[in-house]
Amino acid sequence: MKDLRPALVQAQQGHLYRRRRVLDSPQQPRLVVEGRPLLSFCSNDYLGLAADPRVSKAFHRGLEHWGSGSGSAHLVSGHSRAHHALEEELADFTGRERALLFSSGYLANLAVVTSLCGRGDTVIQDKLDHASLIDAARLSGAGLKRYAHNDMAAARQRLAAARGEVLLAVDGVFSMDGDLAPLPELADLASQHGAWLMVDDAHGLGVLGAGGRGSLAHFGLDADHAPVLMGTLGKAFGTAGAFVAGSEALIETLIQKARSYIFTTALPAALAEATRASLEILRAEEWRRERLASLVARFRRGAAEMGFKLSASATPVQPLIAGRAQTALAWSRLLEEQGILVTAIRPPTVPKGSARLRITFSAAHEDRDLDQLLAALESLKP
Ligand SMILES: *Cc1c(COP(=O)(O)O)cnc(C)c1O
Repeated sequence: MKDLRPALVQAQQGHLYRRRRVLDSPQQPRLVVEGRPLLSFCSNDYLGLAADPRVSKAFHRGLEHWGSGSGSAHLVSGHSRAHHALEEELADFTGRERALLFSSGYLANLAVVTSLCGRGDTVIQDKLDHASLIDAARLSGAGLKRYAHNDMAAARQRLAAARGEVLLAVDGVFSMDGDLAPLPELADLASQHGAWLMVDDAHGLGVLGAGGRGSLAHFGLDADHAPVLMGTLGKAFGTAGAFVAGSEALIETLIQKARSYIFTTALPAALAEATRASLEILRAEEWRRERLASLVARFRRGAAEMGFKLSASATPVQPLIAGRAQTALAWSRLLEEQGILVTAIRPPTVPKGSARLRITFSAAHEDRDLDQLLAALESLKP
């Protein structure tokens, strides 16, 4: 048995050690963290639904009806009427034949990639794709070919050289940068090369496109362009879990083959009831997306005036690149001293030399919250 401590000490010395904070309040802009009030700009609760009373009430009603546990995997006896109804509503929302619920986005990505590809096949990905897509490709046994971020010439080369069944998998909105994948170009490339296009829209659904239908809707694309869509429920939906939406044949294939679907317990049915309520709000309340857009526009104007270099992001994910991990930590500490919580994002979550503050906005943020953030950013001004 090796001594685990030297590696931990080394991570600490490299400013890469990670520590959890203990929240004493619900997930919302105004948090209590370890007993102290902090204004948060780092959650993925983009629409402010994680503590919405209507969603909580649906959760309660679900608990009263269904109890707390689902009892087993979906294929044994864990698939309730509530799960089933949510799947139908998600299929309708995304304009696809079927949707299939998963316990997390990580598991959904493992399911898709390992079910569609295996040894002799090729998975092509953007270098900044989410870790779960990369792990999924590794687990599948297919060859993993990555291309430089949003470099379409490089993506084309990868596709031209690919063997076997080919899956081109990308984040719709890149999670740490907030920019979009050029989905129309990727859809063209995939169709020219007979490849599947899969979009992981964890940060686009609920936020982008008419009715919150996500990155594909933002570009006017549909299931013909990207036959595999993955969405998570723990971000804009404010609950937990994930889904894959696609054709009847795709969903049946996942049910038959995907080990991360078959061998895991179904989410609580009550959570499916809560998510049905949040889906309804997400579709109906356009003002939440308008609110986000105006917060983002005001933030970008204010930060640019202070001389910060902004990324090419029009989404609620707005990184300020610090470079060194140590600098990102120092920035985060300076904000925290002023009552603002933005955790530093460091390698390996982001490439070396690009440690950052990943500032995110929620429709629940008020104008005075943004004023407070901009005032605090003065202390980090370049
Ligand atoms: C959060 C995220 C996931 C994982 O989803 P979970 O439900 O949190 O496991 C997958 N892909 C992307 C792009 C994400 O941001």
